[in-house]
Amino acid sequence: MSLLFSPARIGTLQLSNRLVMTPMHLGYSPDGEVTERLIEYYRSRARGGVGLIIVGGCGIDKIGNAFGMTQLDDDRYIPGLRQLVDAVHEEGAKIVPQLYQAGRYAHSAHTGQPSVAPSPIPSRLTGQVPQELSQEKISEIIASYVSAAKRAQKAGFDGVEILASAGYLISQFLSPLTNQRTDRYGGDLQARMTFGLEVVDAVRSAVGPDYPIIVRVAGNDFMPGSHTNTESRAFCQALEKAGVNALNVTGGWHETPVPQLTMNVPPGAFAYLASGIKHAVSIPVIACNRINTPELAERILQEGKADFIGMARQLMADPDLPKKAMQGRTETIRPCIGCNQGCLDNVFRLKPVACLVNAEAGREAELGGLIPTSSPQKLLVIGAGAAGLEYARVSSLRGHHVTVWEETREPGGQLSLAAAPPGRKDFLYLGKYLETVCLQQGVRITYDVKATPEKIMEEINKGTFDKVIIATGSCPISPSIPNRGNMKILQAWDVLAGVETSGQNIIIVGGGAVGVETALYLAEARTLDSETLRFLMLQHAESDKELYHLLTQSNRKITILEMAKGIGRDIGPSTRWSMLADLKRYGVKALDQTKVLEITADGVIAESAGIQNLIPADTVIFAVGSRSQNELYLALKGKIENLKLIGDAVNPRKALDAIHNAYEEARTE
Ligand code: SF4
Repeated sequence: MSLLFSPARIGTLQLSNRLVMTPMHLGYSPDGEVTERLIEYYRSRARGGVGLIIVGGCGIDKIGNAFGMTQLDDDRYIPGLRQLVDAVHEEGAKIVPQLYQAGRYAHSAHTGQPSVAPSPIPSRLTGQVPQELSQEKISEIIASYVSAAKRAQKAGFDGVEILASAGYLISQFLSPLTNQRTDRYGGDLQARMTFGLEVVDAVRSAVGPDYPIIVRVAGNDFMPGSHTNTESRAFCQALEKAGVNALNVTGGWHETPVPQLTMNVPPGAFAYLASGIKHAVSIPVIACNRINTPELAERILQEGKADFIGMARQLMADPDLPKKAMQGRTETIRPCIGCNQGCLDNVFRLKPVACLVNAEAGREAELGGLIPTSSPQKLLVIGAGAAGLEYARVSSLRGHHVTVWEETREPGGQLSLAAAPPGRKDFLYLGKYLETVCLQQGVRITYDVKATPEKIMEEINKGTFDKVIIATGSCPISPSIPNRGNMKILQAWDVLAGVETSGQNIIIVGGGAVGVETALYLAEARTLDSETLRFLMLQHAESDKELYHLLTQSNRKITILEMAKGIGRDIGPSTRWSMLADLKRYGVKALDQTKVLEITADGVIAESAGIQNLIPADTVIFAVGSRSQNELYLALKGKIENLKLIGDAVNPRKALDAIHNAYEEARTE
């Protein structure tokens, strides 16, 4: 019997299963009002079978909110909130809002006023210095939490969650890094807990003894000098005493140097934080962060590490995960790959969130699902990359008969290159998912087939196909740099595809995403493997310093040379910082504003700030971009009436844009 899909309670709240959709900033409420977009987004997640949805954050006031956030600071929002609650209830799930106050993480450009915090410590996230809260202002903010909770109750929500993690206001009071007060809110841990506990007490008094209250806590701040799981356990015990009904355990602040949500975070890596809290309290504990499969969720529950499992991005990627898992169809679950390209990166850009793998996410109200075709056609898709397979998936769902021809022996196209660097293998899961659902839907995929114009014309003339879709992707380009010494030159794509490079002194020309990924791939290749690391650690065979050295240093010298300003500029902001940190860890030298003039037998001659230098190398790798691979399309153009070009074959683009383009093309034809 699955624990994940067994009923459970949070206080008085009866839930049909133990899967919780944890809050995620969406940006779907531009004026603070609940929108149809927000309602349909959550309705489809509720319909998919999740037990509890936590909406948020929801602003309790104006001074601590963020762009596009649903608001709870005025009664005028109640009718919209009630519609949201009703929609989720109609589908059988429960719903609570997260009460949000960002403190020093609020930006004056959005709120129109300086942010507030326990102490005037500058925020690395906003670059601003908050104003220190007076006692009077603290009381006002507590009153705002109370009013927001009462509005939630009035709108029919099944409880509330209070946000006390991630470096937001309550977290700022808890941490000695951001709370340097000398009044009763500052000092030792007990004093620093005062504000959070006063918020909980005030909300509890306002909503009554039976109304469920969840608090989201950091199981570890992952900030040097701030709280670890030990201090967090003490806070959670105090919260339990104060009448909190469940604890939602995450980790880290927005400023933490330890990645929380990027692809290189191993799935379930932070479940130990929830486990630490669970052993200190007797109320239910929710584990979250990169728990992205029902199997992993079940294991965490079975191992007694948590009572509930939180998923956010995974349910954005596939709202039907619960139903599919309950029906034993886990292989058809669309995986969240932790890329952040559509979700977190859009938050940083102050745009409503989207999802790389799910073009419908956040557009449920606008799209209203796929419409079956009234005239099924026989389609031939050339290329089983992300765009080709997404086109095939959507077309076959709509009732077309689809065949895919792929030149290589595996699905995914460039996804397999993207998956090569350390911590990026989730890209492979997307190719596998697309192949699996296509095959289940009756798409015929043939690998290892060379699609020539003659072969396609022959099939068209025989009437095998009505329409041909060219999804042949792109290919790398080479810069016109003279190679005067027969230096060994490789393409980054070939290196990532597994072409061996024996080079010891490598120069990568091009510092965009592909250049950075290639450098990390090569740098990691000769370092300590995880099995040996585990062995050495358990045996205390080496010092921490030596192990770190063995993990990060190979016997290779790698240099990236980039002509423009900045390295990895085309990597999304939520991931770029951690990849640049990895470059440093692995000792990769990255020089921007450096132009390669010539390649010689001994290295490359590069110019920076008007000065030319020979940089020694035994191997040069090009990572300077790509071009559309559209020769097949051009050869067939004018010969086939129904011919279409999609994805990178039109223009090289990001995986998100390729998949969304394929979805758009297939949903209307
Ligand atoms: Fe997951 Fe990427 Fe989709 Fe975000 S954009 S939900 S990280 S797959």
